[in-house]
Amino acid sequence: MRRSGKLFVVSGPSGAGKSTLSKKVVDFFDDLRFSISYTTRRPRQGEVDGVDYRFVDDERFEEMVERGEFIEHACVHGKKYGTAEKDIKEILANGMDVLLDIDVQGAEQLAEKIGSGVYIFVLPPSMEECRKRLMKRGDIGPEDIEKRLRTAFEEIKKAADYDYIIINDDLDGAFERLKAIIIAERSRKESLIEDVERILRSAK
Ligand code: ADP
Ligand code: 5GP
Repeated sequence: MRRSGKLFVVSGPSGAGKSTLSKKVVDFFDDLRFSISYTTRRPRQGEVDGVDYRFVDDERFEEMVERGEFIEHACVHGKKYGTAEKDIKEILANGMDVLLDIDVQGAEQLAEKIGSGVYIFVLPPSMEECRKRLMKRGDIGPEDIEKRLRTAFEEIKKAADYDYIIINDDLDGAFERLKAIIIAERSRKESLIEDVERILRSAK
């Protein structure tokens, strides 16, 4: 019944569990699509080009920047990341909601540009747990882990700018809360006003 697609933005420090939660939630809702970002970083083990990210070289990324193809883009931990405007438009035009896993700089740009969307900040229960998760993921060395934790400190200061905060302690609980946010947002009167009118018309 819903007509206008919604944009859900998930941000938070590296290791908080954003990709884990994003994957679970797009698998759960048939009408929610993941926005596949462009990045200049290398794929991690198990990551698939065109599924997790579109992996591109620096030259291709810069061409896209110059052509104004990104609705937002940023440099995160020394690599470039961006969201193609065309991808988002396509998903929304197909009547789907879209979920973006992007950093705080990208979320700020998006909020400024489109002025709508549901902004969700995911936090680890502690920085020690965040460190453990990054170690467990095993894709970066100890020096990079410490760098990400220092960046995390700055990122977490932005949490209050978001609409919702999820502390990802227990994964199942965090997933339930993310689902609850999406369901509640889809039930906002602004999303359903056309249905109210349709029901009224049907009573005539
Ligand atoms: P992010 O995308 O925020 O960088 P990931 O989703 O890659 O984080 O999660 C980092 C690591 O922590 C992964 O190995 C993931 O399996 C694990 N993880 C995610 N959520 C939890 C949780 N609630 N409890 C324990 N481990 C978790
Ligand atoms: P990772 O390399 O661990 O997958 O992601 C690193 C950071 O880049 C995360 O904070 C993630 O949210 C962010 N990120 C992923 N895609 C995009 C994007 O398209 N734009 C922006 N601004 N950040 C992104």
